[in-house]
Amino acid sequence: MSNISILGLGLMGAALAQQLQQDGHNMTVWNRSPEKMQPFTDRGAHGASDLVEAVKASPIILICVDNYSVTRGLLDVEDVIKNLSDRTVVQLSTGTPIEAHESAEWFNSIGAKYIDGAILAGPETLGTERAQVIFAGPEDAYLEAEYLLSSLCQKVRYLGENIRSASALDLAWLCRHYGMFAGVTHGAILCESEGVSLDLYAQVFPESDNAHGYVNTMHKKDFKNPTATLGTWGAALETISKQASDAGINSEVPEFISSLFKRAEQAGYGDEDVAALVKILRKN
Ligand code: NAP
Repeated sequence: MSNISILGLGLMGAALAQQLQQDGHNMTVWNRSPEKMQPFTDRGAHGASDLVEAVKASPIILICVDNYSVTRGLLDVEDVIKNLSDRTVVQLSTGTPIEAHESAEWFNSIGAKYIDGAILAGPETLGTERAQVIFAGPEDAYLEAEYLLSSLCQKVRYLGENIRSASALDLAWLCRHYGMFAGVTHGAILCESEGVSLDLYAQVFPESDNAHGYVNTMHKKDFKNPTATLGTWGAALETISKQASDAGINSEVPEFISSLFKRAEQAGYGDEDVAALVKILRKN
């Protein structure tokens, strides 16, 4: 038996697994595309051949996939459910506060404890002091899992029992990035229209500012191999719009920025870096 099973080894899931493995935790991994398990099994993790085996392997199950519907689709299966009772499930996929609440209800109904979490970082900064991972849910479950969860990054915070709080703070934190993407992308085409190089534009921001790297990506046209794809950022923006609709608050800001992301995805830039948004604005 291992201490933790990690389901989902995409860009973020793999970074989480790497943090846990670096700290020497005994872990099991599972991913739909099995080749992504190999770097971890090569270093001693157990690779589960299916979800039942993955869930049986550990008392704590950490999941990081596209969204909550994918999580539910994977785990709401008779043989998996049988093995989930008495497990603690920690969700680090991006979702809305209502989805966090509904997840807690469903996992509790099948006998599992549920912790909802969010990663306020990209995979490349997870090991640095800039990253933060936040959790909400029953305190006893959190304390049992804390020795593992505290390996995920240097700043891990427990927010309390309000299951909606991690998701709410995550979406509110993400909002700042979309403001930067929209504003700085316009700033880039403004510079280009005045014959000012994007190299100079990048330098008006300190290196520690995300805008610096964002402009540099546009300057170098380095849109391949992002740490989070434009598609993943677009999906998180849809989650922000969904929260606005669920809560009945104004949604003009996410809807406007979302229209840019949709056009970029329709143009085929979904797998590229989010800075590829500039290609959409340049076309107009
Ligand atoms: P990703 O690289 O696209 O990985 C997605 C993961 O979900 C992969 O493991 C993929 O499996 C799995 N998956 C998707 N649909 C599935 C299905 N129907 N059945 C089974 N597995 C499925 O995305 P990511 O960047 O790791 O993001 C994962 C989550 O982390 C998202 O909710 C995202 O918002 C959140 N997050 C990401 C970042 C970031 O900077 N990347 C930051 C904070 C939070 P395959 O490998 O088989 O495709």
